[in-house]
Amino acid sequence: MEHRRIAAPVETEIYAATPIDVLIVGAGIVGLCAAYYLHQAGRQVTVIDRTGVCAGASFGNGGLVTPSHALTLAQPGVMLKALRWMFDPESPLYIQPRCDWELIKWLWRFRAACGEKQARTMIPVVLKLGRESQALFEEIIAATELGGVYHRNGFAYLYNTAEGLKEGYQKADLYRHFGIETQALGVGLFSEMSLPLHPSVVGGLYFPGDAHVVPDRFVNGLARWLIGQGVPVLGGVETQAFETRKGQITAVKTSTGLIHAQEVVMACGAWDNVALKPLGIRLPTQPAKGYSVSLPQPDGFGALPSLLCESKLAVTPMDGILRIAGSLEMAGLDLSINQRRVDAIIRNAGNYLCGLDSSEAKVWCGLRSCTPDGLPIIDRVPGYANLTVATGHSMMGVRLGPISGKRVAELISGVMDPYDRQWLALGRF
Ligand SMILES: Cc1cc2nc3c(=O)[nH]c(=O)nc-3n(C[C@H](O)[C@H](O)[C@H](O)COP(=O)(O)OP(=O)(O)OC[C@H]3O[C@@H](n4cnc5c(N)ncnc54)[C@H](O)[C@@H]3O)c2cc1C
Repeated sequence: MEHRRIAAPVETEIYAATPIDVLIVGAGIVGLCAAYYLHQAGRQVTVIDRTGVCAGASFGNGGLVTPSHALTLAQPGVMLKALRWMFDPESPLYIQPRCDWELIKWLWRFRAACGEKQARTMIPVVLKLGRESQALFEEIIAATELGGVYHRNGFAYLYNTAEGLKEGYQKADLYRHFGIETQALGVGLFSEMSLPLHPSVVGGLYFPGDAHVVPDRFVNGLARWLIGQGVPVLGGVETQAFETRKGQITAVKTSTGLIHAQEVVMACGAWDNVALKPLGIRLPTQPAKGYSVSLPQPDGFGALPSLLCESKLAVTPMDGILRIAGSLEMAGLDLSINQRRVDAIIRNAGNYLCGLDSSEAKVWCGLRSCTPDGLPIIDRVPGYANLTVATGHSMMGVRLGPISGKRVAELISGVMDPYDRQWLALGRF
């Protein structure tokens, strides 16, 4: 099995700094979408990344752009399941027990966000952000002419237990209540959509409005387009410290020299707290590892992505491969591959879909930055008037990449949508 973690840098050079307008730290989907909208707004942007473009979670993820999937990880019943799963080495959600005050605070807030009322309150917020972001995906793709990376083919939830299907129908009723279009489908209809189901599948739901992207192609394509527009996107540049004066960041000390900037945007994904530590800032986020296993796409497999609900795995057809993505392991900034978990992913996927051949599987793992309520943080950091953070995208960083980028640009221009500002504020924790 190949373990592929890091994409090659697009460009590496030392930036000879004259003061620049906006410095974006992190060339994942969030940092580059922010660069896109800031560039559109006429700002002079420079993007740096300690490795290169798409080196983090934006590389090998599931690529789902599914506004219909409007519940965050924090939902009723998850806390109990998480406690049970702590003792199962193959479970989809694993929180490593450890005496870490920040983790304990995170779990306390997560528990609060899992309440019935709180989860329902979040649905319209997640739905609004997801729908707007999907429209922006289509806008970016049209403007940058990134053909073949985005597909609006809908999304399926598949169940292989009667109990799971019953829960699925309840979820569908809840979603319909919020205006999300969904249809309950029998296994025959999924087969007609070229989804070759294992006989144990008992039924599912279909969400016609959803989409998926090939994430690394989208992110690398966007970086190339930005570079073509004159936006420097520099790999091999890591932030190390900050120079500050009167509540402003004046310069960022990096591995290749000092960069003076008027505005600094930190879009470092799971490394957010490491990058902000020199400023004494601690965000309420935790890194969480996930895996993807990419297999050759079996013959007769169509273009419909699916969620294998009991196993919490996403399966996305991409460029002749089938990517199975899932697992949320909260064990710090650890990027080691747990083979037992990978084997469980492949085995569990085979309980829903036929024809999977894992002999040429490519395994990847990435770290997402997770907030307790599952929504990102896009905000100014108190104490620093020109410092913005865009992080904590949890399981939705691809889906919400474009809207996050747009909101960053609006925030810096002083015109951010007040509804979203309230929901994405750091102060909500
Ligand atoms: C297995 C898996 C499946 C997923 N599936 C989906 C999905 O289907 N749909 C969805 O919407 N989301 C999904 N996600 C979540 C999504 O991948 C992330 O939320 C998203 O990619 C986060 O993007 P980002 O730009 O914030 O972070 P990243 O892509 O991690 O980028 C952060 C960048 O910052 C750089 N960096 C860090 N520190 C520094 C520093 N000090 N100096 C310079 N550079 C630095 C890193 O090198 C990195 O390139 C999945 C995640 C995983 C792990």
